[in-house]
Amino acid sequence: MTSAEIRAAFLDYFKSRDHTLVQSSPLIPWNDPTLIFVNAGMVQFKKTFLGEEKRNYSRAVSCQKCMRAGGKQSDLENVGHTSRHHTFFEMLGNFSFGDYFKKDAILFGWDLLTGCFKLPKDKLYVSVYEQDDEAAELWSNLVGLSDEKIVRLGAKDNFWQMGDTGPCGPCSEIIIDQGSHLGCGKPDCAVGCDCDRFLELWNLVFMQYNRNENGDLTPLPKPSIDTGMGLERISAVLQGKITNFDTDLFEPIIKDISSLANIQYGSSHDQDTSMRVIADHMRATVFMLSEGLVPSNEGRGYVLRRIIRRAARHAKLLNMHDASLYRLTDSVNRAMGSIYPEIVGERSRTEKLLKIEEENFYRTIDAGMNRLDEIIAKVKRDGSHVIPGEEIFRLYDTFGFPLDFAKDIAMDAGLKIDEDAFQKEMDLQRKRSKVLDVHSAKHLHKADSITLSVKTDFIGYDTFKSGATVMELLMEGNSVETLNKGDEGEIVLDSTPFYGESGGQAGDTGIITSEHSLIRVADTKKPNPDLFIHRVKVEKGSLRKGDKVFCSVDEISRKATMRNHTATHLLHKALRMTLGDHVKQSGSVVDPERLRFDFTHFQAVQDDEIKGIEDIINEKILEDLPVRTDIMNIEEATRSGAVALFDEKYGETVRVVSVGDFSKELCGGTHCKATGEIGICMVLSEGSVASGIRRIEALTGRNALEYLRSKKQELNEIKGLLKTESPAEKIEKLIQDTKSLEKEIQKLKTGSSGDMISDALKHAQDLDGVKIVNIRQDGLNPNELRLLADNVRDRLKSGIIVLSSVIDSQAAIVCMITQDLANKYSAGEIVKNISKLAGGKGGGKPDMAQGGTKEIEKLDAALESLHEIVKKATLN
Ligand code: ATP
Ligand code: MG
Repeated sequence: MTSAEIRAAFLDYFKSRDHTLVQSSPLIPWNDPTLIFVNAGMVQFKKTFLGEEKRNYSRAVSCQKCMRAGGKQSDLENVGHTSRHHTFFEMLGNFSFGDYFKKDAILFGWDLLTGCFKLPKDKLYVSVYEQDDEAAELWSNLVGLSDEKIVRLGAKDNFWQMGDTGPCGPCSEIIIDQGSHLGCGKPDCAVGCDCDRFLELWNLVFMQYNRNENGDLTPLPKPSIDTGMGLERISAVLQGKITNFDTDLFEPIIKDISSLANIQYGSSHDQDTSMRVIADHMRATVFMLSEGLVPSNEGRGYVLRRIIRRAARHAKLLNMHDASLYRLTDSVNRAMGSIYPEIVGERSRTEKLLKIEEENFYRTIDAGMNRLDEIIAKVKRDGSHVIPGEEIFRLYDTFGFPLDFAKDIAMDAGLKIDEDAFQKEMDLQRKRSKVLDVHSAKHLHKADSITLSVKTDFIGYDTFKSGATVMELLMEGNSVETLNKGDEGEIVLDSTPFYGESGGQAGDTGIITSEHSLIRVADTKKPNPDLFIHRVKVEKGSLRKGDKVFCSVDEISRKATMRNHTATHLLHKALRMTLGDHVKQSGSVVDPERLRFDFTHFQAVQDDEIKGIEDIINEKILEDLPVRTDIMNIEEATRSGAVALFDEKYGETVRVVSVGDFSKELCGGTHCKATGEIGICMVLSEGSVASGIRRIEALTGRNALEYLRSKKQELNEIKGLLKTESPAEKIEKLIQDTKSLEKEIQKLKTGSSGDMISDALKHAQDLDGVKIVNIRQDGLNPNELRLLADNVRDRLKSGIIVLSSVIDSQAAIVCMITQDLANKYSAGEIVKNISKLAGGKGGGKPDMAQGGTKEIEKLDAALESLHEIVKKATLN
């Protein structure tokens, strides 16, 4: 059976048994900041299991994209070393929400594996929780398994719970014995061993208890079922392959890696491991990138970066030395694209981002590698076998050089790394960054815990003004009874029209009044969806807990913010239309002043593209499209094609903001009622913020008008100064004029206009038949003096020229000698001696020399001795 057939057979089996087929949720959890990636089929049903969310079915089946890397349940280090672990994998699962329980779950599982998939019954084992007699009995009586096939294991392996409290229960795993040749050979190798012999295929979880704060278990009135089976594992078994990597899910990818590296798969253990790691990591990378994730230095983005770096490291081990993994995007697309069209749509973006990240890796590794070589050489010189962990941490900290990569290289050199010391440094750094973290968020954290019981209703979508009751007052994070005139603090209300900063939209400002007070709201924060905190200063009177107040949002600012927010949605869509679907929002700020939008794109946005984008946005503004908001559940929203931001936390119901038929986004922000309110939108700037991320800033409404007006004013001033209606032409002309004037000035100064030179020539003196020209022309710098001397020499034909000039309270002296006299007199000697007489310095070549002095008052006297000096400067 092909994996596609296996996947379909599983889904069909349960569909025909009244299970509703539910699509896989994205890898990035919608509404669960506690979870780094979706790591099991049950994640999207969590709230249903907890009874917090009703669905119109009680049986479900799914094939869920899962990721086990980073976070608690990481299998990253296992990949390549076991035959059964992946970072990205697909989990097949059937679910019962208070419908069937243990008996049916066991019967379904057994029937599918042995009836449909025809697995050999004698090779199958099951594990049960040591105290779960019920499950053990079902396996033995109903299925007919003999006792030695039913293995009882402890809570660590076979008791499952979602959290410290809440639904939990025993589980039972179906395991296949793959034969002793795959075992670790240890005498105690049996079901539950970590090696590849006893392969866990399917885990059936029986959710039957609720655990309270004291740890007590009470039976759930309606127990539930959650199961999970890895598609890669069942495919390997059914296709008779020893490892998941030899199934049709991986084969095409491994083949491409082998041809890229020009190495036969199956020829060496280490190289096979590298190829498997690369294959696994490329699948993970393609899926993560397709969901809009970008490699970064924290959170999910960092897991992605680590995975890419690990893959690149193994590529290097296969002697690939340039970015080339990005080419495997295509292989993953061919292997998985028909089932997961989302990766096909994101292909070109994925390739580009992956290539950039690979190139980054090679840059870092090369720098870090040299440093590591030095460290290794030193350790060896010192006769040690251990590389200090601090050194490796520094390498990690400066170059992002991965520890496991350092370990590999150290191992090659026969050395070890002091990992404890590394870890210590790491912890220290973590502590340092935590201190910073806690410090800035301290007040809000405190406020958060104090006001845990308070819930603020946000009513600001529909109104700017409303009455409310004071629930909590805070100063520096501590609860207080009153706020008095002059106090700065925080107010929590039972309901508020003030928007709390979130989703890139700034918090509202405005006024709160009560019978006895006037309070200015400087900002509004929203540390959690139910808590709005107004940062305030009391201007008049005082305020007590329980007071009735009246809130007025600063409408002018808020409306400006709304214009910017709605325009941001138009901009997002216009960017995708103009530049392509690889454009994804990676951040935004909207406040009363402007809008700022960061997005993925790989080169500068050209001027004509910006113009096109502005045109689209303003066309939509002129069309005065209605802006609608709808509350719907997340599935409906995704089905309707609403654009979601990967990094946002969304509740199970989401707000979808539609601008006519033009744009549809998940958004909690406040918007104009129709696009006409935006007035106008102008792009102010475009630039780069990080590799692959661009930023656009734009203005709308009054801000755009103000901007245009100030530009017009500026232009008018320029026109006034230039006294013209076409300033560009005039400036062009002025620039030309200035250039020719500059030339003219130079000419005049250096006398090429002729008069001064003729004059000088006329006054040339004669010394034994040699003409001597001596001119002092103040105001010329040494350069100009030389130019003048050149001109004089050209006219003089034969003679000695001495020019001097006083400028900036210094004297400059130049001497030139025409070619015919160059072997008779030395210009260098002449200048040297004049300068010396005048208290300065000088010298040069026989035909041209320069000098100068600061004692300008001595210049003329020195020049009077010119004849004497020239005589002395006669050569030979
Ligand atoms: P193992 O002990 O082999 O790591 P597990 O106990 O972590 O498995 P569960 O959390 O029970 O596995 O997940 C349910 C099923 O998902 C497993 O039975 C297995 O088929 C599959 N599975 C779990 N982890 C992985 C993984 N890293 N790669 C591929 N499949 C996996
Ligand atoms: Mg595991």
